[in-house]
Amino acid sequence: MAIQEVDKIWHNGKLVPWKEATTHVMTHALLYGTCAFEGIRAYKTDHKGTCIFRNKAHIDRLFYSAKVYYIDIPFTQQEILDAAAETVRVNGLESAYIRINANLGYGEVGPYSLDCPTDVSIVCFPWGRYLGDEAMAKGIKVGVSSWRRSAPGTIPAGVKAAGNYLSSRLITIEAKKRGYTEGIGLAHDGTVSEGAGENLFVVKGGRIITPPFAASILGGITRDSAITLARKLGYEVVEQNIPREMLYAADEIFLTGTAAEVTKVASVDDHQVGDGNYPISDKIQKTFFGLFTGETEDEWGWLEPIEK
Ligand code: PMP
Repeated sequence: MAIQEVDKIWHNGKLVPWKEATTHVMTHALLYGTCAFEGIRAYKTDHKGTCIFRNKAHIDRLFYSAKVYYIDIPFTQQEILDAAAETVRVNGLESAYIRINANLGYGEVGPYSLDCPTDVSIVCFPWGRYLGDEAMAKGIKVGVSSWRRSAPGTIPAGVKAAGNYLSSRLITIEAKKRGYTEGIGLAHDGTVSEGAGENLFVVKGGRIITPPFAASILGGITRDSAITLARKLGYEVVEQNIPREMLYAADEIFLTGTAAEVTKVASVDDHQVGDGNYPISDKIQKTFFGLFTGETEDEWGWLEPIEK
């Protein structure tokens, strides 16, 4: 997906012109993938103007990811929260994708490097439907990948760091080359983990089932939102290992992610999912998007309005 440039990038505490937010070729993050990051959406809402969705939860995860990889962020959480809102505001964006990077910077080579400075940037740009409008309405075709997600005790799958996305890259490229819109990764034990950039939910007999953290998933913030909304709607949601063949027996499947939002799955490995109706996924999708029209009450304080 091509990047749409905007005016300014927040770079180590200052707003600089887009083209000036550069880095050296020997930056540690480029050499070893040592970048903790976040992807956040700002929505144009009908009732509260432009709002960042769950900014605090994302920044908490950013600091957690950085901690696991010994990347020191020389700003407070509040400073990063404020800077994200400010970056959307100064660029005059009504809705945006916000990417926050805490890159281990320039100064040392070798994976040890505990003394590299951290280069923090906040970039935002317009971004519509990641998987397309048709995908949102009709659902997407997915394929189970031949690549497994990293096993527990190898690369921490629950951490959002650039290096982890080598796995997502293999899964999604393989899927697209086979004619699917997205790929599903299995965990080390052959049970279902998640999509290349999305968490996965199965609906069976009125219950909603999603793989647990130990199935090498990223603890998605949209996953948490979907679970919260589903329970609020009165559905039972359980975290449980999902064998691959259960995908073929599902009544409904949907994926969640900041980019993918709530996206239904129409087929898995060319098997149609259920009978082609998605009563529960539709309800969750509608309730999720209702947060941005005001139809769904934001009881949790997930919407953070950006001052004009
Ligand atoms: N899993 C992976 C591998 C992801 O990259 C993402 C996107 N960040 C998700 C799940 C969904 O997480 P979130 O809802 O926090 O965007």
